Amino acid sequence: MRKEHLPFSRPLIGKEEIDAIVQTLQSGWLTTGARAVQFEEQFAEQAGAPAALAVNSCTAALHTALLALGIGPGDEVITTPFTFAASVNVIEHTGARPVLVDVEADTFNIQPELVEQALTPQTRAILPVHYAGHPVEMDPLLELAEHHQLEIVEDAAHAFPASYRGVKVGSRKNLAAFSFYPTKNLTTGEGGMLTGDTGILKKARVISLHGLSHDAWRRYEKGANWYYEVLLPGFKYNMPDIAAVLGLVQLSRIDEFQERRRAVVRAYTGAFSACTALETPVERSYVEHSWHLYPLRLREEELTIDRNRFIEELAARNIDTSVHFIPVHLHPYYRDKYGFHPEDFPVAYGNYRRVLSLPLYPGLQDQDVADVIEAVLDIVRLYRR
Ligand SMILES: *Cc1c(COP(=O)(O)O)cnc(C)c1O
Repeated sequence: MRKEHLPFSRPLIGKEEIDAIVQTLQSGWLTTGARAVQFEEQFAEQAGAPAALAVNSCTAALHTALLALGIGPGDEVITTPFTFAASVNVIEHTGARPVLVDVEADTFNIQPELVEQALTPQTRAILPVHYAGHPVEMDPLLELAEHHQLEIVEDAAHAFPASYRGVKVGSRKNLAAFSFYPTKNLTTGEGGMLTGDTGILKKARVISLHGLSHDAWRRYEKGANWYYEVLLPGFKYNMPDIAAVLGLVQLSRIDEFQERRRAVVRAYTGAFSACTALETPVERSYVEHSWHLYPLRLREEELTIDRNRFIEELAARNIDTSVHFIPVHLHPYYRDKYGFHPEDFPVAYGNYRRVLSLPLYPGLQDQDVADVIEAVLDIVRLYRR
């Protein structure tokens, strides 16, 4: 059995990242400046995005996106219960009503047919979440959006770099929000990026920095004009240069990171797919999965222990795991405000009860991966029905 504790996640930070941050600290410019602009340009290029806006979290990017589209009280936004609360909290922040619809069993992603059924005259936008990095079925959603004049805001927190039918997530004109939280595929410590059409991103930029008129962050630069105007009561969502340089270095290593993630996934799926008590995650033939998470489902009918016990057994073998996600409709705020019951979204609820996320990050060594596989199979052997 493994002796050392294996963390669920750990960012891969090397000398290059550390040197870049030290240089920024020594440069005299710590807040949003030239490095943030460079990070926006580089990210837009790699994601194939028309334009990009760097902010201090994906949550900020999602909130800014909804505000830039003018979404507010009286509007409805359709999204999934199978996500982190931030995706739905931001809808609440605008005063709009979040409308949840159930997910597909195999990808855990929003079901396009249910989106169509949930449309009302108040529907203004669809907020799909690319769960674990597996792209959502975008074609039917884009068709619905076009037909009913709806906005699409993608929660792409997990989905860099991913693609759907050859189109990179974040490369469309509609808004998409990425996360650089430490567990995500690329990190800036805390941070996020909003991509989309240049015009709407101009509006988003104003909202993301106090509502100040264009390029106000330059007001402390050498020879800069001190004058600015407040156009609306905006937010304080800008990304500092200290974070942006970390992102720039991480961006240059993303191919190496993704290669390692895919190798770990191949090893896990190779080891688990023959085991009938386990259900491995899918990757549809026409997508490129970014493999942010490895959600493994247990077949409860084959085991004498439930998911919670399975997690405890892994922890006893020094392996940390997590659960993504506790569905939104189970959280007290949403449950009580909208009167949700667990079975209102039976697929999401069923998946939640039997899923766990295994460690998946580029810093995993071959021995770590072998230890996870051995521990999982050992528990299955011990508790098979
Ligand atoms: C991590 C995450 C977010 C929030 O990202 P932050 O950068 O921490 O704000 C939003 N949605 C999903 C699905 C996430 O996993």
